[in-house]
Amino acid sequence: MTYDFANAIKARPAQSELMRVLGDPRGPREVRGDRRGAFIADPAWARSHLVRVSTDQLPGWPRYGGRPVSAVTLHRIAADHLVATWAEVCRRGLHTRLRSYDGAFVPRHMLWNPANALSVHAWGLALDLDAAWNAYGIPHDRMQIDRDVVRVFEECGWTWGGRWSESDGMHFQFTDPLPGTDVPTWQDAVAQVAPSPPTPSAPVAPAPAPAPPTKLYVQLRNPDGTLRPDWVSVPVDSTGRLMVGADRQPRAYYVTAALAATKGLE
Ligand SMILES: [Zn+2]
Repeated sequence: MTYDFANAIKARPAQSELMRVLGDPRGPREVRGDRRGAFIADPAWARSHLVRVSTDQLPGWPRYGGRPVSAVTLHRIAADHLVATWAEVCRRGLHTRLRSYDGAFVPRHMLWNPANALSVHAWGLALDLDAAWNAYGIPHDRMQIDRDVVRVFEECGWTWGGRWSESDGMHFQFTDPLPGTDVPTWQDAVAQVAPSPPTPSAPVAPAPAPAPPTKLYVQLRNPDGTLRPDWVSVPVDSTGRLMVGADRQPRAYYVTAALAATKGLE
């Protein structure tokens, strides 16, 4: 199934609303970590919000401290989004252009200073890449991060810290672009392209030619982009396509009779 970038970007939070929307990763009270500005995440919060994305789903993912990485820990609302973004990086042959992965979920305050607000890393919605070549504050023209890779991330809905006045060239976050910042024309470009309907596989039914479908089986999405387990059948018109949603994007998918049977649909 084609990943629905448009829906995910529509559901993407703004940085200013993370605490309200996703809760406080510190839990009821902050437990300081061993580094200044770090804290121990509330275990209940971590359990319900964070996921580990296996690098089996991220072929060619860069190393951390020179060592291969088995998983990337980040917020569940960004997990499928990272996999789909990285697939696009790979599709364009750019997956060897990064030199290091330097962390995603890190329970800490901005700039490791406990007087600052929480970093977006504390919610698991930020990634650092090629940190050694793109330290905080380096001017844009001296950042050594592959701009084609940066562009893919931006097209796929990530905000790049390299454009901020207090520049952070290693940093990508899955939030809306910050108000008042420089945003490239291609930011979120994938959301402008309607997801292509899946190519139908060979019909399961033998000849004669199958009758046009009168129903579609559709799986609904939660606001966070995850699929709900329940499927519903809906009638379709003579074009065989159902248009749903205020933006009129097609979000219905054909399923084969065999698949419908496994899901207990008539
Ligand atoms: Zn960062």
